Formats: sequence, structure tokens, C-alpha cells
Amino acid sequence: FTKQFRQAIGVLKRIESYGYDAYFVGGCIRDLLLHRHIEDIDIATSARPEVIQEMFNKVIPVGLSHGTVIVRYDHQSYEVTTFRVDADYSDQRHPDSVHFVKTIDQDLKRRDFTINALAMDKTGCLIDLFDGEKDIQKRIIRTVGNGYDRFAEDPLRIMRALRFSSQLGFSLEEHTLKAMQFVISELNAIAVERILQETAKFFAGPYIKTGMDFFKWLHLEKHLPVFKDNPAIINRLPAHLKPLQSFGAVIAMLHVAVPAISIDTWVKQWKCSNKIKNEAESFNEALYHYQCSGLSPWLIYKLHTTGHSDFTLLVNMLFDDHLSEQTVHNMAHHLPIHSMHDLAINGTDLRRLFPQRQPGPWIANTLKQVEKRVVTGHLSNDKNALKEWVKWYRHATG
Ligand code: ATP
Ligand code: MG
Repeated sequence: FTKQFRQAIGVLKRIESYGYDAYFVGGCIRDLLLHRHIEDIDIATSARPEVIQEMFNKVIPVGLSHGTVIVRYDHQSYEVTTFRVDADYSDQRHPDSVHFVKTIDQDLKRRDFTINALAMDKTGCLIDLFDGEKDIQKRIIRTVGNGYDRFAEDPLRIMRALRFSSQLGFSLEEHTLKAMQFVISELNAIAVERILQETAKFFAGPYIKTGMDFFKWLHLEKHLPVFKDNPAIINRLPAHLKPLQSFGAVIAMLHVAVPAISIDTWVKQWKCSNKIKNEAESFNEALYHYQCSGLSPWLIYKLHTTGHSDFTLLVNMLFDDHLSEQTVHNMAHHLPIHSMHDLAINGTDLRRLFPQRQPGPWIANTLKQVEKRVVTGHLSNDKNALKEWVKWYRHATG
């Protein structure tokens, strides 16, 4: 066990002390066996959520109807879910209801892939009913039970299989792949928000090349929003795809690859959040500036700070360039200001400077001019210098 797991054993022990079963389960066991970084440790238990709420001081009821609560324990959070099976997938969007069950075996059986259907008790003993450990060694993704049934039950699993291939570099086992091919048209019944989540993880996977090979083999492009109306997009993608962490960067890439499809089209049809939309636009603008005049302080300033790495990858993929992320970081580091807040003058200063003027859009406009000149090094970020310049500027522009 890693330190992360040792810290969590207390949760299992506490639940067991009340006479219930509890296990570490799912992706965290897969990642433990793969020596991968573990984001969160999930726990499955025979105790009902109400009972878990009695056992711990701090429990957040995040998904009571699905049997899930978050337990705070020793300054960490754990998702604790009651053993369950999904009762009905009839609308294919979300299970209509869940049935709680008595044993971990039943709970593992409802899980999607053998590599995800693993559990471990507090002593480190593995519960592996479907040869998940062997599949991890063989580096393959295989459904628990009959693939046709499992993908038909929840076609989102098709997207999940692909994203795991891109995240882990695993192959899709032969029967699993055939079943995916057979059921793939059912994807159109799945809510686009759920597809988006898996697609974003797909494009962020370190083995995106492996994932993309399966994507193409399955002709997934015929079943995804926007792609299905323009299946040729897939041939216009950069030859050497690199994993992009932001889905906004993915959209910017797709837009640059096929400019006839606007960012707005992608954002609307994929029902993206405003955050993704803003990031897509910011990347697109930065790419445009880069194409016109290379790297500049203004470009870096406008690019959101979490976007440096994706931006570098986009430039290299789309323009066959050799930009290094360090170059971008260095330029960002040497920027005189990082946001409007860092400017040595603000709106109040401007109003004091021109007491006779009514407050209005001129304030924001003037600050924008100052901002641009400071970022590009044409003005130094010094209060007096900026005041002088503003006086001159307002005089000159009236
Ligand atoms: P990640 O590290 O990306 O979170 P994960 O394996 O934890 O990967 P989750 O989406 O968090 O993936 O799901 C947690 C677990 O729940 C999975 O490991 C799997 O056992 C089960 N699971 C999730 N979604 C499904 C599904 N659609 N069908 C069946 N089982 C699922
Ligand atoms: Mg998870």
C-alpha cells in the first residue's frame, strides 16, 4: 500500500467496526497495480448511506439516491458508495434507479471493464472475479461479461473504453472491440454532456495515438456531434497528435484544422461550459497572433496562465514548429504585469485626474490603452509616468 491508501485504511476499519463490509474499489486499485498517480480513493460498502452518515462526523450527501456520500476523514475526502446494481438503463441517459445489494461480488459485476472491477480489502487482499489483474498485465480493455449486452446497456461505455485506451495505452480486446463496433450507433442516445466528459479525457490521454487508432478503426467520427456532419475532419487533424489538457484547446485545434467550422458551432453542439468556450477562443486568438507575428508579450499576457503547455503543443502540432514551453514560461515570467489589477493606476486615479469629467466608458477605454502599452513595454508601470501619459493621451484624443 502507498501512503495514500494507508491513510484511508482507517475508513474501512471504522465501517467494519460497525459490522459492515468495506473495500477500496474501481479505478484506484487499477492505478495502484499500474503504479499510476491516484487522484481519489473510492470505497464500496454494504452499509447504507444513512448508516455511513452516523459513523463519521463529516459526511457530505453528494449522491444519496445513487448511494454515494463523501466522507471527510483525517483531512482527506473519500467517495463511499453502497454496493449497488443499476436497476434499469431504459432511457440510456442515467440509470432510472439503483438497487442496493448485499455483496461486493454483485457490485463488481455491474462495473464496465475488468480492469475497473477490482476491489481490495484493508489487508491488501485483491478481489478479482474477472481476471482484471491479468488484463492489466496484458494491457487490454475487456468488458465484464458479454460486450454486446454491456455496451447496449450503457453505450457511453464505448467512449469510456476509448478514453481508457488513450489514458493507459491499452488495446481493446478483440471481442470487446467487435461489440463496440456493433453497438456504436447507439451513442446518439447518450447525453452530449456525458460524451464530452469522456472525450475530453480521451484527448488528454498520454497515449492519444493508440486511442486515435481505435477511434479511426471504429469510425467514431460518424457518431459524434459536428464530426458526423463533416467526417473528413478526421483526416485534417495534425499527423502527430499530442495530449491536450483543456478541451478548449481541442476545439481550437479542430477549428484551425477546419476553419469552415466555427468555434461557436463546436461549443453549441457539444454543449460546452463557458469556461471551455472562453479557453477555446483564447487559444484561437493566441494561435492567430502567433501565425501573424510570432510570440509576443501581448499574446502571452492574453493567454490564460494555465494554457501555456497546451498552447505550445498546439503551435508545434499545427504549424510544425519547435516552440518550447520554457520559452513561453520565460516570457510570461518577464511580463511587467499579469492582469489589469497589477497596473499602477486604476479607475479612481483617472477620475481624480479629470474631476470635471463624468464617469463613463472613457475610464475603461483609457485603462485598456494603458494596459496594452505597459504589457508591450511602451510605458513603464510607474504611477507618475502613467498619469503623465494619460493626461497627454486624453488631451490628444479629446
Ligand atoms: P478516473 O481515474 O479517470 O476517475 P475511474 O476508473 O475512477 O477513472 P470513474 O468514471 O471515476 O472512472 O468511475 C469509477 C468506477 O465506476 C469505474 O472504475 C468503474 O468501475 C465504475 N463505472 C463508472 N462508470 C461506469 C459505467 N458507465 N458503467 C459501468 N461502470 C462504471
Ligand atoms: Mg474516478
